[in-house]
Amino acid sequence: MSVIYDRVALIGLGLIAGSMSLATRAEGLANEVVGTARSAETRQIAAEIDLVDRVVETAAEAVRDADLVVLAVPVGVMGAVAAEIGPHLKPGATVTDVGSVKRHVIEAVSPHIPEGVHFIAGHPLAGTEHSGPRSGFKELFQNRWTLLIDSDSSDLDALQRLRRYWEAMGANVDVMEPDHHDLVLAVTSHAPHLIAYTMVGVADDLRRVTDSEVINYSAAGFRDFTRIAASDPTMWRDVFLTNKDATLEILGRFTEELFALQRAIRTGDGDHLFEYFTRTRAIRRGIIEAGQDTEAPNFGRGAVKE
Ligand code: NAP
Repeated sequence: MSVIYDRVALIGLGLIAGSMSLATRAEGLANEVVGTARSAETRQIAAEIDLVDRVVETAAEAVRDADLVVLAVPVGVMGAVAAEIGPHLKPGATVTDVGSVKRHVIEAVSPHIPEGVHFIAGHPLAGTEHSGPRSGFKELFQNRWTLLIDSDSSDLDALQRLRRYWEAMGANVDVMEPDHHDLVLAVTSHAPHLIAYTMVGVADDLRRVTDSEVINYSAAGFRDFTRIAASDPTMWRDVFLTNKDATLEILGRFTEELFALQRAIRTGDGDHLFEYFTRTRAIRRGIIEAGQDTEAPNFGRGAVKE
């Protein structure tokens, strides 16, 4: 494939940035990928495993002469990182992010983007419960959706170029409005993560059961929850603190439905349970038909590195 950006700068060198670097280099989408992370340890690992072409110490240094700058840090620190790089951005460059929440990131980052630099927020709907510089793999975005956020001020050429870049990394791309993004993700990702954290927390509280039985006899339901609940605590703390309204809205609805199911169980209303489970089963079929998961019990992530 041909070069889309001469130099790509990755701020943060975890799962998402690492996967972007590996995909970019495998497909020849940039002449150079420069990366930096907060800790010396992560920067050293990235250099050792050849995660990027060049590791530098600071974000300001990383963005120098970069044509595309990707903010791949937790949502809660996007604003601080943008403030640090703002004065060093190359005129005409594009800045994007990969954060799981969009309204908050746009409000935190935009004030630090100078005139003549294009900021286009983004979110790859691809991930695993692993994090850190060793967790990335180049196939992560294959056939997954990346959502780019359009606004009245977005530069069309910059948006199209960023779209081509994600598509070249294997992603399907859609353009969305930020509040809609945050509501959709609250349903499909944020609330489910909170529910998984809660379920595993409940099991952990029931020490009598959890000591060995929950581990040894963990069936598909609980096992699946534990995988989700193993996700990075910093990332998820930030997601809930910055997508508060949409998450609370969905959790409110969830609680109402849970009470209705609770009542059906108590009153022996089997018809209600059966109809409900039949409806939810259809959603699962729709996801598989859309190619967003497989029947396999590994969530379709055959390429995930252990
Ligand atoms: P990760 O593997 O934990 O990596 C995060 C990176 O950010 C690390 O390199 C870390 O550096 C750096 N970092 C943390 N705090 C920082 C700070 N204050 N200043 C500068 N750098 C800092 O995380 P990830 O999974 O790649 O997630 C990155 C972003 O992608 C998040 O905004 C997340 O919401 C989004 N996202 C994640 C997923 C997912 O499933 N994981 C999916 C889609 C989008 P150190 O290692 O030195 O601490």
